[in-house]
Amino acid sequence: LKKKSRAWCKKSDRVGKSAVLGAGIMGGGVAYQSASTGTPIVMKDIREEALELGLKTASKLLDRKIEKGQLDNAGKLAVMNAITPALDFSSFDDVDLVVEAVVENPSVKATVLTEVEAVVRETTVLASNTSTISIDTLAQSVQRPELFCGMHFFNPVSLMPLVEVIRGSKTSDQTIARTVSYATAMGKTPIVVNDCPGFLVNRILFPYFNAFNRLLINGVDFQRIDQVMEAFGWPMGPAYLADVVGIDTLVHADHVMQNGFPERMGHDDEVIAELLLAADCLGQKNSRGFYEYG
Ligand code: NAD
Repeated sequence: LKKKSRAWCKKSDRVGKSAVLGAGIMGGGVAYQSASTGTPIVMKDIREEALELGLKTASKLLDRKIEKGQLDNAGKLAVMNAITPALDFSSFDDVDLVVEAVVENPSVKATVLTEVEAVVRETTVLASNTSTISIDTLAQSVQRPELFCGMHFFNPVSLMPLVEVIRGSKTSDQTIARTVSYATAMGKTPIVVNDCPGFLVNRILFPYFNAFNRLLINGVDFQRIDQVMEAFGWPMGPAYLADVVGIDTLVHADHVMQNGFPERMGHDDEVIAELLLAADCLGQKNSRGFYEYG
């Protein structure tokens, strides 16, 4: 698949320098992945602490590579120097592609997309890492919707190979080609999908979470279900996966999927993840979800 993507991506599709808006879980991961695979990147946030945390995460991942003998100190320095932390847009005038990875809030995303479009070149691609907001809805906040698409990474970015590249109704072929080219250069496996609730992966995942919820209501122990799915060969079961994703994120995405495909999601009146959320059990991010983390 990689070879095929490379073959049809033209040299002019290559991204020489990129930027990411947001230095959180996803933005920090995108910055690390881009820099460590040879594309320099500007990482912008509105909070200095977020930038520091993003750089620290990249530094830790690189230290692990050094421990494994896959990198030396000079190599680490080169990667760290390829990430430019920023609190303003002064380094954005020569970026080819911007990944928007700020909080999952439509009005915040609309504001940052309008702001960044005003400072980049007229050919720069803007790509949103949204998990649940429609690409066509977000495209309404930009002047050049043909240069806008979705670029949906999975968490943790450094480990998860798949990237969904989402084509909005006005996205041009060249925008898709440049985004696919960038994802491929980052060592990822891009798939191009149309704009719809859940894109592709969440359309498969949420019926599975709903089936899991039904078993819980029927009294099956969640740990037993995780053990069974691991024995089936999956890297983790649904309860552990829910904790990794974050219970709040899961509940939010579940509502989007229920609204998008009410006839297909087979919803129960009682949703265990909603009970956990009401009890402030958010999963690994606050150390308690289905499981407790020390
Ligand atoms: P996060 O809360 O860890 O990080 C968001 C960052 O955006 C914060 O550091 C915040 O300071 C910053 N921010 C807020 N307003 C900003 C602005 N105006 N300009 C620049 N930065 C700003 O969130 P996250 O989990 O990294 O999620 C980011 C996006 O990625 C969301 O759209 C989310 O749906 C999507 N996503 C998340 C996951 C996941 O598992 N966490 C997976 C796939 C996609």
